[in-house]
Amino acid sequence: MQIFKFGGASVKDANAIKNLAVVLKTVGFKNTMVVVSAMGKVTNAFEVVISNYFNKKSALQSSIQDIIKFHNEILFDLFDPDGYRDENHPAFKKVKLLFNELNNFLKVNKSPNYSFVYDQVVSYGELVSTTIISDYLNSIGIKNNWVDTRNFIKTDNFYRRANVNWEETQSAISSSLNTSALNITQGFLGSDPNNFTTTLGREGSDYTAAILAYCLNAQSVTIWKDVPGVLNADPRHFENAQLLNKISYKEAIELAFYGASVIHPKTLQPLQQKEIPLYVKSFLNPEEAGTTVGKGITLEPDTPCFIVKKNQVLISLSSLDFSYIVEENISEIFGLLHQHKMKVDLIQNSAISFSVCIDNIYNNLESLLQQLKAKFSVTCHENVSLYTIRHYNTSSIEQLEANKTVLLKQLTQETVQVITK
Ligand code: ADP
Ligand code: ASP
Ligand code: MG
Repeated sequence: MQIFKFGGASVKDANAIKNLAVVLKTVGFKNTMVVVSAMGKVTNAFEVVISNYFNKKSALQSSIQDIIKFHNEILFDLFDPDGYRDENHPAFKKVKLLFNELNNFLKVNKSPNYSFVYDQVVSYGELVSTTIISDYLNSIGIKNNWVDTRNFIKTDNFYRRANVNWEETQSAISSSLNTSALNITQGFLGSDPNNFTTTLGREGSDYTAAILAYCLNAQSVTIWKDVPGVLNADPRHFENAQLLNKISYKEAIELAFYGASVIHPKTLQPLQQKEIPLYVKSFLNPEEAGTTVGKGITLEPDTPCFIVKKNQVLISLSSLDFSYIVEENISEIFGLLHQHKMKVDLIQNSAISFSVCIDNIYNNLESLLQQLKAKFSVTCHENVSLYTIRHYNTSSIEQLEANKTVLLKQLTQETVQVITK
């Protein structure tokens, strides 16, 4: 059994979907389970729908229509090659039914719970994409079954970031997933004890592939990307990024932890536990080796790896009464950070001062600062960049720091982190 995962970029339009079929034909699809994300930026578009549902009802229908139109164009490209815009292929009807179901949910829903509604709505991105792709593959002779992943991936009801119930998931998969056929299923989705839809967190389709691999004892997982594999830096932010041929699970976990957005952080642990290799490959050059993530592999090539997180906030505190930070104040500081849902990227302390670099995801900075100022002398830099280099050397640090103002630096044996303005 092998698991393939195709992300948003690999199914962003009709040509990309045709290319997905080419990938399957090129590398083979025996004993394969295919996990697919929503197309392109459709999840972001559904986030607008949800926001309109709660805050701007007047814009709700037009935001849904945008998404319907986007998928309709893809349906015409795939199933109406003569351009008569006839909607004869059954795929049109199936997609229409899904959008009717969505509209119906929005009409009858009484729940004011944003996260609950979010999951019920955003999931249509994956439901529609897999419906279209499964029908397209069947239409060109790649026979497959459309599988509803919500029947297999069981979670709690922590909507938007649901936790997998491994026992129930394992038992559902072992007892009723037919693995003899080619299966096409959704990434990112699960269902709670009452069978309401849940999601596993943004970019969670990689994690779905890992959950399925774990429960099926798969031989491998392949994530198909618009890059040649895992690179030693994000090519959007660094020139001359270099392909990493081989990396260990541990290294991949570290890179994901520090913010390399190429693999979802939760993906690695289930694979590592069963020593299932992860391949990250290019959907444009499917025969190239890409990156292999596996056990005990030394980094090849042995080169510094760069990660950047932009738009972070650096807060430095010192006690007003000269009390020692770690002994007397740290739990209160962390209490406030937790209360304001700040994601902590880095901390550094001395006797009477403390610096923390945070990701202000939920826009709670003002209130946090107000409360800190009651007790500490506070300086705050917004809009700073946090750079991390794994396996650094002198020249990589010099290269990074050139033309930047360094606000803070922290070195351990394998990792250096630099905050710059
Ligand atoms: P998907 O279509 O699977 O959701 P993403 O867009 O989430 O794919 O991830 C692919 C992108 O990740 C690449 O286009 C690249 O810009 C970015 N990226 C960030 N860090 C790395 C890295 N270290 N190696 C490769 N790509 C990276
Ligand atoms: N469609 C979801 C997202 O964009 C999940 C994924 O693509 O992995 O976050
Ligand atoms: Mg993605």
